[in-house]
Amino acid sequence: LIVTYLRSSSLNCFYGCETDYFITYVLGHRGKSGLAAAKGNAVHKAMETLAWKSKMTREGVFEYEDETFGPLVVADITPEWAIQAAYDYYVKIEDHLDWNATHFKECREWTYKALNDWGGYFDPMNQIVVEPEVKFDFVIEEDWARYTYETPQGPIEGFLGIKGTTDLVVADKMDTNLLECVDYKTGRQSDFNTGIEKDYWSLWHDKQLLLYYYALRRLFPDKAIMMTILFVKFDGPFRMMFGDEQYAEAEAMLKKAFDEIRANERPGRVPSNMAFKCKYTCAHGQKGPIVDGKTRCEIIRDSIYTIGMDATMAKHGIPGAFGQYGSGGGRQSEVTLGVSD
Ligand code: SF4
Repeated sequence: LIVTYLRSSSLNCFYGCETDYFITYVLGHRGKSGLAAAKGNAVHKAMETLAWKSKMTREGVFEYEDETFGPLVVADITPEWAIQAAYDYYVKIEDHLDWNATHFKECREWTYKALNDWGGYFDPMNQIVVEPEVKFDFVIEEDWARYTYETPQGPIEGFLGIKGTTDLVVADKMDTNLLECVDYKTGRQSDFNTGIEKDYWSLWHDKQLLLYYYALRRLFPDKAIMMTILFVKFDGPFRMMFGDEQYAEAEAMLKKAFDEIRANERPGRVPSNMAFKCKYTCAHGQKGPIVDGKTRCEIIRDSIYTIGMDATMAKHGIPGAFGQYGSGGGRQSEVTLGVSD
């Protein structure tokens, strides 16, 4: 399979179902958000807006331009306003979902839990906000990260990229050389692919936290970094002081995933004990567009079986499905893949 970049969702996707990875990240068919994800996004947006208020207040800024809401007066931003604005925004852009008043109540309750539980520690107004959202998108210029692929449009080459956005980075009040990366979770406190509950032991090896730490170490090379995951509805925060050992583990994890995805010549289906995902959670299963009685997943699997991987990429890949990272470093151009189905 072609892999030019990794992000938390693509890693989870590949290890959850290889066919899902192929359809989503190689062919470029993105499914629409489910309700749980959309509610989580609304809570994240409310927390992000309050983090911007905290940062602007500390810096003495009275107005700023929010990338979602446009110009905002900092003094007008309250938790109630942020929750309502974030909720309204997601109701508007995720209009395929069946929203109702209970969903707003849940988003409001979870946001206030994040703000008020644990003595208000995670209320951004009580924190020294370094950056409300840290976006990262860079290539790993190491020999192990170099790739060359044959595609329906000719060969491509470059270095593996990593991409993502952390929820919040704050500075410690006692030691400004110490940063804390906070990731909010409004879902279950269990691994989506295995159903196993997450605890300190598993979180030390969590792919998302390792990926974020790897990126933050490169963005803030002089800082010590604590990784915190906040399960808003459950046990609350898990806080871990990552260091050299986790940096090495993160690089090994990325290399292993890169090698395993590249070596995969024919994507398999979701493991049988997780087959319920096809019907209930996968955007390419029962919830996907159905043509001639077949789901997108069935159409693609039939195509692989009858015409092979390369021809399936040419026939069903969406133009610009994946980005090419050139050998000079940095994102250089989009690669297009055949025609859309
Ligand atoms: S429908 Fe099932 S097998 Fe198909 S991509 Fe989704 S999870 Fe994988």
